[in-house]
Amino acid sequence: MIEILEGRKSQVMVKGGADETVACDKVSLAGSVSQRACVFCGSRVVLYPIADALHLVHGPVGCAAYTWDIRGALSSGPELHRMSFSTDLQEKEVIYGGEKKLYAALSELIEAYQPKAAFVYATCIIGLIGDDLQAVCKKVSAEKGIPVIPVHSEGFRGTKKDGYRAACEALFKLVGQDKGAREKPLGINILGDFNVAGETWMLKEYYRKMGVDVVSCITGDGRVDEISRAHTAKLNVVQCAGSMTHLAKMMERSFAVAFKRVSYFGLEDTAAALYDVAEFLGDADILERTKALVREEVSRIYPQIAAYRKDLSGKKAAIYVGGAFKAFSLVKALRHLGMETALVGSQTGSAEDYDYLKEICAEGTVIVDDANPLELARFIREKDVDLLIGGVKERPIAYKMGVAFCDHNHERKTALAGFEGMLNFCREVHASVMSPVWRFAPARIHRYKRQNPEGCDADAKYAAC
Ligand code: SF4
Repeated sequence: MIEILEGRKSQVMVKGGADETVACDKVSLAGSVSQRACVFCGSRVVLYPIADALHLVHGPVGCAAYTWDIRGALSSGPELHRMSFSTDLQEKEVIYGGEKKLYAALSELIEAYQPKAAFVYATCIIGLIGDDLQAVCKKVSAEKGIPVIPVHSEGFRGTKKDGYRAACEALFKLVGQDKGAREKPLGINILGDFNVAGETWMLKEYYRKMGVDVVSCITGDGRVDEISRAHTAKLNVVQCAGSMTHLAKMMERSFAVAFKRVSYFGLEDTAAALYDVAEFLGDADILERTKALVREEVSRIYPQIAAYRKDLSGKKAAIYVGGAFKAFSLVKALRHLGMETALVGSQTGSAEDYDYLKEICAEGTVIVDDANPLELARFIREKDVDLLIGGVKERPIAYKMGVAFCDHNHERKTALAGFEGMLNFCREVHASVMSPVWRFAPARIHRYKRQNPEGCDADAKYAAC
């Protein structure tokens, strides 16, 4: 049995256990090999989908390679965001400073690609050598006539959450720049959806059917001009609360744009999100259209979900995702499939988030903040789960443990948001959990034999593989 490191124990709890508190918002324990990404990566995932902006990583080429094309965020137009530009700092710049190289790279790239704005990301080494990003960006902005925005995302500065904050600060420099834009009384901004596999387009279609104006999407399929007039909307609808609440709060303070936190994962949460927006806008026609939309979608999707439930009922799942809001929705979505959540955790949850998770999870559920691979492996075995839901870093853990896997992170190619997304989710979970391949996985073969004591030929089949 793998032991939990002493310094990690306060970040792991069992519902119904002696101590039901989860310590969070802490820097990762040294030596724990956290699943969490760095500050720079946090800011990069948030800003990446702005498709007509230049994204320049100031640092060694490895930081840029690590975050190259980091999301499956689609664009309906330009695709400049998919390039990973780097100043590729070398020993010489580390000793004498990298500002000249940054100035040259920025000037050349803006000339070549004519972007609407540029984001310049600070990495660990910039924090160490002390390049004045602000001054270089200001100078280039004045020369080229576009916003050139420094992102203060030095990797070691804190947690991935601090990267989200740095991205919000950078985005806020664009908001309100279109001074002539007119107010939109029935307008909203979609915050914290990143158009992974086209999800923002699905949400925009719901809002179009409801009669709601979408002023900007921050940042899925994002455009600099749209973000510059985002202050004209009435409401910010915040999906990835961990990453975008800071921007929503700044916009509320400076432009009086209210905000609501929602989730578009699962049937109840998607319906609740649409109703929340309709009720906030206070327009009777919008409310009627929302009711009709939800009725139509739920009656179309629900019978199909019920078919998957027959096979999946009683199976157990583990969830480890970036933001806690997604974890809430997944716990509820799994219930529709008759599945129990045995382990749930997030990289960036707050104390409030973990309190809510405690409320919605059953007794005995393990709740974990900022987990590492060994902890996840331990609980997968201990709880004998059938499925792990996570991202790219969790996938190999699931496969090594012989457990089905569902990718619910930003690299995936399947839309999982909205009503249609719930159906895709159920289809994916069903296909993976019910696959016969797991009975041949060395880590699971004993379980299969236990369940099939009579006529078990698993050893023979495994040997033949
Ligand atoms: S910013 Fe620092 S921690 Fe992040 S990828 Fe670069 S070197 Fe690694």
